[in-house]
Amino acid sequence: MKSTQCQVAIIGAGPGGLSIATELKKLGVDHVALLERESTAGGIPRHCGHSPFGMREFRRVLSGAEYTRRLTAQAEKAGVEIRLATTVTELGQCGELSLSTNEGRQQLKAERVVICSGAREKPRAARLVSGARPQAVMTTGALQSMIYLKQQRPCKRPVIIGSEMVAFSAFLSCRHAGMKPVAMIEAGPVVSWWRLAALLPRLLGTPVLTNTSLEAIEGKDKVRAVMLKRPSGELATIDCDGVIFTGQFIGESTLATMAGFAIDTVTNSPLVDAYGRCSNINYFASGNLRYPLKTAGQCWREGRDMASLVKASLDGKLPDRWAQTNA
Ligand SMILES: Cc1cc2nc3c(=O)[nH]c(=O)nc-3n(C[C@H](O)[C@H](O)[C@H](O)COP(=O)(O)OP(=O)(O)OC[C@H]3O[C@@H](n4cnc5c(N)ncnc54)[C@H](O)[C@@H]3O)c2cc1C
Repeated sequence: MKSTQCQVAIIGAGPGGLSIATELKKLGVDHVALLERESTAGGIPRHCGHSPFGMREFRRVLSGAEYTRRLTAQAEKAGVEIRLATTVTELGQCGELSLSTNEGRQQLKAERVVICSGAREKPRAARLVSGARPQAVMTTGALQSMIYLKQQRPCKRPVIIGSEMVAFSAFLSCRHAGMKPVAMIEAGPVVSWWRLAALLPRLLGTPVLTNTSLEAIEGKDKVRAVMLKRPSGELATIDCDGVIFTGQFIGESTLATMAGFAIDTVTNSPLVDAYGRCSNINYFASGNLRYPLKTAGQCWREGRDMASLVKASLDGKLPDRWAQTNA
């Protein structure tokens, strides 16, 4: 089996991983390997065809796709080794990584590893919504990959469930694809994200219904309607042909869990110390894996700070002892 070495390996080439890798090179770390299971770097924003991305990083309003192209170009220019179509399948106790690649299984030994594998939305199955299992019931991630990567339009008049930041990303993606959401549904009394954000759907004719919960999805093969519980307790039916579940993010921490690292049972993120280190201090956690959900710009900024901590660790400037923190 092919076996290689590097100083720092970063798992996941989203905005967080790209930022850490680029900054580490700027800090003088020789060999930085960025490992990405997809055939293109960029993470989630790769399939966000809409804006706004990049204001912090490039002082411009960019689409997600253009944003990730620029971050990737910066990393390549800085000399980061980006290994695409490379899935990390196992973490060893001292930075030994098992990789699955197009050339077969490989090993990579790194002095330090940063896990930057992002977060995912809770799918319908985990949300206990009753009704049959018709087509066109999806998460925002699935919606965006259909629209932007496969040029498909899964439905025309969906209902969006949730009002976190990503619900508005789903709304913009729908509009981009010529779909008109018939409503946004929020179980709480107010919109979960920036309240003024609700003006946009409302101005474009999509009501944002707070204090309203999804009771059931109607339709056998195709979605026909959703049954909602309104603030008065009454049940109401809204005709639609799709349901998009947004938000309720959990950290993508399968690797850390398998390796026996301490995990937060609520967020499913690895527990970290004040330096962002996992309970095995050869490993750091960053980006949306740690405290989901942040914007791409926040993950990018966190990545730059994380790079300094990883460099300090390489230089032997961090304490040897791990103590969990809530920071
Ligand atoms: C559906 C959705 C819509 C969003 N819309 C917006 C928006 O409009 N504006 C905004 O600012 N933010 C948005 N966000 C948030 C933003 O995308 C994230 O904050 C940002 O992408 C997080 O960066 P990250 O590097 O932590 O993770 P990610 O971007 O999720 O990247 C993680 C990477 O790790 C890779 N990976 C995972 N496991 C492995 C493994 N075992 N081996 C190798 N590679 C692996 C994945 O393939 C992925 O490329 C959205 C998020 C989601 C989920």
